[in-house]
Amino acid sequence: MSPPLAQPSCPPLAKALTGPQKALRKLGLHRAIDLALHLPLRYEDETRLVKLREVREGDVAQVEGRVTHAEIKLSGHRQLLVTLDDGTGTCLLRFFTFYPSMQKALAVGSPVRVRGEIRGGFAGLTMMHPVVKPAGGVLATALTPVYPTVAGLSQSYLRRAIQAGLERAALSDTVPAEYLQEIGLQSLWNMRKALSFLHHPAPDVSLAALQDHSHPAWQRLKAEELLAQQLSQLQSRRERARLRAPVLAGQPGQRPRQPEPMAERPAAGPVADHTAVGEDLVAAAAPLMAQTLYARLLAALPFQLTAAQTRVVAEITQDIARPVPMHRLLQGDVGAGKTVVAALAAVACIDAGWQCALMAPTEILATQHFAKLVGWLHPLGITVAWLTGSQKAKERREMLALIASGQAQLVVGTHALIQDKVQFKNLALAVIDEQHRFGVAQRLALRSKLVDELEPHLLMMTATPIPRTLAMSYYADLDVSTIDELPPGRTPIITKVVNDARRDEVIARIRGQIEQGRQIYWVCPLIEESEALDLTNATETHAQLSEALPGVMVGLLHSRMPVPEKKAVMSLFTTGQMGVLVSTTVIEVGVDVPNASLMVIEHAERFGLSQLHQLRGRVGRGAAASACVLLYSTGDAPRLSETARERLKAMAETNDGFEIARRDLEIRGPGEFMGARQSGDAMLRFADVNEDAHLLDWARRLAPQMLDQHPALAEQHVLRWLGGKAEFLKA
Ligand code: ADP
Ligand code: MG
Repeated sequence: MSPPLAQPSCPPLAKALTGPQKALRKLGLHRAIDLALHLPLRYEDETRLVKLREVREGDVAQVEGRVTHAEIKLSGHRQLLVTLDDGTGTCLLRFFTFYPSMQKALAVGSPVRVRGEIRGGFAGLTMMHPVVKPAGGVLATALTPVYPTVAGLSQSYLRRAIQAGLERAALSDTVPAEYLQEIGLQSLWNMRKALSFLHHPAPDVSLAALQDHSHPAWQRLKAEELLAQQLSQLQSRRERARLRAPVLAGQPGQRPRQPEPMAERPAAGPVADHTAVGEDLVAAAAPLMAQTLYARLLAALPFQLTAAQTRVVAEITQDIARPVPMHRLLQGDVGAGKTVVAALAAVACIDAGWQCALMAPTEILATQHFAKLVGWLHPLGITVAWLTGSQKAKERREMLALIASGQAQLVVGTHALIQDKVQFKNLALAVIDEQHRFGVAQRLALRSKLVDELEPHLLMMTATPIPRTLAMSYYADLDVSTIDELPPGRTPIITKVVNDARRDEVIARIRGQIEQGRQIYWVCPLIEESEALDLTNATETHAQLSEALPGVMVGLLHSRMPVPEKKAVMSLFTTGQMGVLVSTTVIEVGVDVPNASLMVIEHAERFGLSQLHQLRGRVGRGAAASACVLLYSTGDAPRLSETARERLKAMAETNDGFEIARRDLEIRGPGEFMGARQSGDAMLRFADVNEDAHLLDWARRLAPQMLDQHPALAEQHVLRWLGGKAEFLKA
C-alpha cells in the first residue's frame, strides 16, 4: 500500500468551523480542487433583459420596467400586488411575504429590474416572488450557476467559495495532448478552461449542450474522471502484483498430514464432533496419501461439476498457483453452485499446506456452509473450525487455539473471523461469500490477516451479477469468473404476481403442496424503520397460517430471535419436519433446502429486484416443479407505483439473474445499484458508464500507457480527482 497522503500542516488550535464551512465539509468540499469540481446543476440567465411582449409562460425572464400600480390586498391571503409595465406589456408581481423596504422599492413610478418565472393566469402574465433590483445595473456577462447544496449553505456563499477555489486550484493539464486528440478533445478545452466555462458559461452557449453534457467542456471532464478511475484501479492492480502470496499448487503426498490423536482434538462446530477424525478414516486414507485432497474431493462429490464450474475452478486454481495475491470475484446466479467451487479452492490451498478461511454475512448462512463443507471435507481428514459471535467462550477459545496452531485447516464463520483476537497460523486463501453484504473495511480487515510478508489470496462470491459496463469501470481491478449455467435437472420456477386480496387461494395452494410432501417458505418484508412492525407482520402471518393449516408444523424465524432458537427452527425445516417457514428476510441468502418448492413473498412490492430474485432462488433447487408467488398490496393507493410494477413484471418475465441485474440497473440507475459497495465515494459524478462508453473505452486503453510513460502525471491526475479516496477504492 502506498504511504498515507501528506496532510496539509494544520494550525495546532484549529478554529471552530462556521455553519457554512461545516456545510461545505458535508458536501465533501475540502480542497480548492474539490470546490472547482463542484459543478452547477443548472444556470440562470441574468445576462440579458427581455421584453414582456416576447416572454412565454414557463420562461425565467429578466425584465426592466416601471411600477404602475401597487397595493396590499387584505382579503384572503395578505399579499403585495404590483403591476410592472415595460412599454411592451404588463406583468403582475405577487408577494406573500414582504417588508416595508420592499414596498418602498416597488412604489408606483419606480424603475425596477425583476427576474422570475413567468406564469399565465386570468390576471395575465404573473411572477411570484421575483428577485427585485433597481433598474439600470450592469448585466452579468456569463450565465449564473446554480449549485447542488445542502441546508445552511446559500447559493451566494457557495458561489464565492467555488470562485475562490477555482482561482486557487492547480489546474495544469495532466493528460498529454496526444491522448486527448484521440477523442477529439484538443487542448482548446484544457482543464482550467473547461472548468471556468462550466462554472460561468458564455451567454450564447447552447443550453441543451450544457444540460445533456455533450458540450466539449463536459466531455473533457468526463474523460478525465473516467481516466482517474481507471488509473487508480490499475495502480492498485499493479501494487497487488508486486505483493507476494503463497503458491497454492497441489502437492500430492504432502497432505493430508497426520492428525493428532483424537483426545487432543476439541470437537468443533455447531454440530459437535465434526472435526474429530476417526482413526479408521485415517487408516483408510493411508493408501491414498499420494493423491491430492483436491482429486479425492472431486472423486467423492455426489455430482459432476458443470462445464461452467470446471472452468471457474481452473481459473481460480491457476490464480492461486501464482505467487501473486488473487483478487477475484466469482459471480453466479443463485443456485449455480458456488459453494463447491469454494470447497475445491479450499482443498487446493490445504493441499499446499496452508489455511483457508470462509466468511459469510449471517450466522445461518455460515452454519449452512459449515455443515456442507464438513460433509465434504471431514471424510478427507480435514479439520474445519467454526467461529461466530454467538459462540460460548470456552468453545471460542478452543477454536482460536486450533486456528492459531494451524490445526484448523479451514475456518468457517461470520464477521467474528476478522476480529483482532483471531490469529491464523498461515492463512493463504480468504473466501468471502455474498461479498456485497460486507463493508469495504471488513474486506480489508480480512486481507490484513497477513502471514509474515505474504498476502492471502482473495476470492469473493456474489449472486448479484454485475452488468458488464459496471464491471469494466467499478471493478476494473478485479478478475471476474462467471458461472453462467445451472446444474442440470432443475425445473424452472414459475412466478406469479397475485393481489393480496387472493391470499386465501394461495393458502389453499400451500395445503396442496404439503399434501405432496413439499415444504414452503413464506417471507415477510423487513421494514427498516420499525423492527417491531416487521415482527407484527411476521407473527400475524404465522398465526394465520397455523390456524389455516391444522396438523402442519408452521415455524417462525425473525431477526430478533436469539441465535440458538433460530438454529433450532432452521434445523426443523432443513430436516423436513416443518412444513411452512414464515420468516423475515433472514433466509435471504444461501439457504439450501431442495425439498422446498414454493416461495410466497408477502408485500413483494416493498422488496428490491435483486432481493426478490435472491429469495426466489431458495426454491427450484430440487427436481420438483417450483413456484414463487409474489403477493402485493397497494395499501391505500389505487395502484402500485411505476417502479414497483416494473420490478414485479421483471420477476414474472425472467428467471435469469443477469437479465434481472440488467433491468435492475435500468430501473435504479448505477448510483443505487452500486450502493451495495457501500461507498458512495466510489461513484462517478459526471460520467455515465453507459452513455459514455466510448470515453470509458478510451480511458481503459489509455490507463496502462499513461502509468508506464507518464507516471508522475498519472499520480497527479489520480490525486486531483480522488484525493484520499483512492486507497478506499482498492478494497
Ligand atoms: P449458490 O451458488 O447459490 O451458492 P450452492 O452452492 O448452494 O449455490 O448450490 C446449490 C445446490 O446445487 C446445492 O445443493 C449444491 O450441492 C448443488 N450443486 C452444485 N453443483 C452441482 C452440480 N454440478 N450438479 C448438481 N448439483 C450441484
Ligand atoms: Mg451460496
